[in-house]
Amino acid sequence: MTDITVIGSNMIDLITYTEKMPLEGETIEAPEFEMGFGGKGSNQAVAAARLGSKVSMITMVGNDSFGKEHLANYQDNNIDVTGVGIGTKSSGTAPIFVSQDSSNRILIIKGANNELTPTILDTHLDTIKQSKLIVLQQEIPLETNYHAIELGEKLGIPVLLNPAPASEHLDLEHVRKVDFFMPNETELATLTGLPTESLDEITLAAKSLVEQGVKHVIVTLGSRGVLWINKDNDMVIPSEKVHAIDTTGAGDAFIGAFSHYLTQGEDIPEALKHANHYAGISVTNRGTQKSYPTLAEI
Ligand code: ATP
Repeated sequence: MTDITVIGSNMIDLITYTEKMPLEGETIEAPEFEMGFGGKGSNQAVAAARLGSKVSMITMVGNDSFGKEHLANYQDNNIDVTGVGIGTKSSGTAPIFVSQDSSNRILIIKGANNELTPTILDTHLDTIKQSKLIVLQQEIPLETNYHAIELGEKLGIPVLLNPAPASEHLDLEHVRKVDFFMPNETELATLTGLPTESLDEITLAAKSLVEQGVKHVIVTLGSRGVLWINKDNDMVIPSEKVHAIDTTGAGDAFIGAFSHYLTQGEDIPEALKHANHYAGISVTNRGTQKSYPTLAEI
């Protein structure tokens, strides 16, 4: 049985901790380097699985050592790997630079993630059909996400779309069909073309999507928490007051945890409150998946 099907990416995070970012043409020494499992899809799957959800992952890894490590990592986290395929390109990688103030800059090389085609989804319909929620991000081809959204609609399974990284090509027709649209401020600005500097501007931009037919818009606001807007509600659920060390992957921790609590039957505000708590813990530790607590740890 599957509670949540995550259709998305896997990456190996190559994390450099640095005191400052190099300028063009400059070479500087950074004090530390770490590797870790990442990719927005995998991160969200791992967060939900660590909380106890039954998660199935549909993804493409590379035919290389990183690919094998990903498979082992899913299995270590009790994630069903029936939907994990092996592509012809390298595994996805993400060089990440974390500054002293805990902000981050990230490059992604998608590799085999680009080989996850709509046709592959059709070979995993049995898994998808069992799930209570389909979770999507934007590190796989857009047409695969569109197909997943259409499958969700056809099968009556709610779909959560985290439009990250931001894409100008995402069309509103498909966004309207998802149940939970979960951007951060930047991604919201990309889709709406509206400013999202202040909370008032973010609220207006989110409302514009609801007015155009999007069911629930949930905007993660970093240390401020999260904004939830639908046609009847408009509320900010504040984050936990914590000492943030590394916010890399906080958004994925949040979405994985929200998916878990929602499919366990919690209502939206309750699931958002618990997801804030979960993501709040993750920012107090270094790394992406490494910083995600298990149910016992929270
Ligand atoms: P990323 O791309 O790094 O994963 P994001 O921009 O998608 O991040 P954020 O909005 O920064 O996501 O954060 C997601 C959630 O994590 C927030 O809604 C909040 O619950 C939690 N969070 C992030 N930063 C902090 C912080 N400094 N203190 C407490 N909670 C935080």
